[in-house]
Amino acid sequence: MAGSAVGTLSRVTGRGAGSVVGGHAILAVEPRALERFSAGRRVVLVSGTNGKTTTTKLLASAMSSATGAPVVTNAAGANLPPGLAAVLAAGSPGAPAVLEVDEAWLGLVSKEVNPAVVVLLNLSRDQLDRNNEVRQVAARWQRACETLPPASVVVANADDPLVAWAAGPARRALWVGAGLSWTSDAGGCPRCGGQVRFADQVGFASAGRPAEGAMGAPGGWQCSSCGFGRPQPELWLEVSEGAGRAVEASRVVHELALRLPGRCNQANALIAMAAAQALGYDAGEALSAMAQVDEVAGRYATVRADGTTARLVLAKNPAGWAEVFSMLAPPPGPVVVAINARTADGHDPSWLWDVPFERLRGRRVVAAGERSLDLATRLHYAEVDHVREPGLLAALTEAGPGRVDLVANYTAFHGYLRVSRRAGVARQAPAAHRAAPAQPERPERSHATASRGGLSTCTVALVYPDLLGTYGDAGNATVLAQRLRWRGYGAEVVTVAAGQAVPESCELYVVGGGEDLPQALAASKLLESRALHRAVASGAVVLAVCAGLQILGESFPGAGGEPVPGLGLLPCVSRPSSRPRAVGEILVQAAGRWAGLGLLSGFENHGALTQLSSGAEPVGTVCAGVGNEDGTYEGVVSGRVWGTYLHGPVLARNPGLADLLLSWVVGDLAPLEEGEAEALHAERTEHGPGERRSAEREEASLEARWWRRRQSGVAP
Ligand code: GLN
Repeated sequence: MAGSAVGTLSRVTGRGAGSVVGGHAILAVEPRALERFSAGRRVVLVSGTNGKTTTTKLLASAMSSATGAPVVTNAAGANLPPGLAAVLAAGSPGAPAVLEVDEAWLGLVSKEVNPAVVVLLNLSRDQLDRNNEVRQVAARWQRACETLPPASVVVANADDPLVAWAAGPARRALWVGAGLSWTSDAGGCPRCGGQVRFADQVGFASAGRPAEGAMGAPGGWQCSSCGFGRPQPELWLEVSEGAGRAVEASRVVHELALRLPGRCNQANALIAMAAAQALGYDAGEALSAMAQVDEVAGRYATVRADGTTARLVLAKNPAGWAEVFSMLAPPPGPVVVAINARTADGHDPSWLWDVPFERLRGRRVVAAGERSLDLATRLHYAEVDHVREPGLLAALTEAGPGRVDLVANYTAFHGYLRVSRRAGVARQAPAAHRAAPAQPERPERSHATASRGGLSTCTVALVYPDLLGTYGDAGNATVLAQRLRWRGYGAEVVTVAAGQAVPESCELYVVGGGEDLPQALAASKLLESRALHRAVASGAVVLAVCAGLQILGESFPGAGGEPVPGLGLLPCVSRPSSRPRAVGEILVQAAGRWAGLGLLSGFENHGALTQLSSGAEPVGTVCAGVGNEDGTYEGVVSGRVWGTYLHGPVLARNPGLADLLLSWVVGDLAPLEEGEAEALHAERTEHGPGERRSAEREEASLEARWWRRRQSGVAP
């Protein structure tokens, strides 16, 4: 009653759909609401970075069609405890429930609801300001699987190493080969810290291929150190010419004829089918019910503005985007991309640099949303012709008239759903900021200015992005190379995967941020080869960000807090911190020799803190945020090695720093047409600190307060 009263109040006052705030009221009155209102039901929990809402909808449709009775489900995607409490409390007693659960909360929710089935889809970088590390989420899942009731079945994607590791301790696991199109967060073995190789990677054959005949797209994987590999699936996905089939180990084949588009939805249907089988439903019947689903909480909905008709697609992280490109109308079909960075999106949009937006070249692209400047800067460096229009509807009319594809991240997506429900919206005046015209022709020129003598092409080595790519820092390599090319230099980015030798003769090296475990693997490889040492000794420029900075220092904390030796190329030592992780916008006043750079902005996200050796030179002083240690200094510079805690990526947000590093290689640089990069710098230096403060205030939110009251040994 409390929940529905508060929910109604919220609805009639126009504050929201009411289920979440109603759920808060329920939890305030009954902190054990999840346990209480799930008692007597068969409960299925569905979690994962991508595909939760769709898989939940598919499974709920299959179950309600099989039983002819309603299923309790959070179809609108309210997947934190208050949303779950609200739907469970309102559902008819005894009805089965299919609930999608936020990845970070699965442990707590599974403890309370005694699930019959837990579906684990995939894990990849998403909302890292809240989740910190993908492996931390996997570790919470693993603890959840250890403590499940003996009868619970875990339906898990065997193609995702992090999922396979998390589900390993489950007493009853049903492995499904649903494929994994984004492998970049699973390069470091979650079990031993060694290197995971995927079947489609060079060199995998020598590491031993997993059993033939059970290869879901894109294939198997195995750790080259401990041998931990893909569990043999009982059911897998085969896709040929767009048609998907679910193949059982017994060789029974089911066609996946779906109305929902794309390979990712075939994978979702496969897993939903497996969950239905685990619950005792007939697979064929389940699939025919799923085939009828044509809409999932607004995904693929049509949004209209004036003469423009858009198909709305949700993509909120690089793994999601990996599936989106194939869903777009062929070029030159226009595309609107809308990006926000609110709490539900994650406050750090650095991930935009992990999306290969270069693939949008040749289309008309409109960058929309509250973080349209971050996106426009990314498109500028990708040389995608674009227009920036922050207003959601105005962006649509800007892209039209006619049919356009519309890709939005979470809160922008919901913004569109809201406006699409309101009929007759007046056209907003487009405050169009035309993108800078294409960069000047690249004159052929000799590079006599290059400090390393007579080079025709500058090479930027991107070091181990499969271990040190978690926080979007690969974009720094893109920025460096483009700023050279736009000035007429030849420039190329060499991506050095963890299994490859680091070249020694590049002019520039970019070492990014990463999770504790893969970070230690990266350090040991670099220490062993000493290639980076030799490059630095011969005058190469290195940009080392966060984990990169820590690795290049004297030592840093490993995953268990133990000191791990660093490369000794920066005069600093990193240690574990007893304080909360440093997460948020950071603003730095460059100091000393670097004062000319002015204000530097970025996003920090680190657990360890760094102490500079006496006499070491920091980048600057911290105006907002934590920086190296305690809000005093940020970064460390030694010779031509620049260490910083700033993500963003730092060079995209601070073009002046990019040019300083480049000038160390090629000498004086001509000014550039900056596109949106300068506007982004101005916006971030102005607004970033305020955003950090408001995010910190949110720490005291209802969710957090409820969580503290309910804390029962499972980290949220
Ligand atoms: N794993 C390191 C830490 O937590 C670095 C994190 C990062 O690179 N963002 O301190």
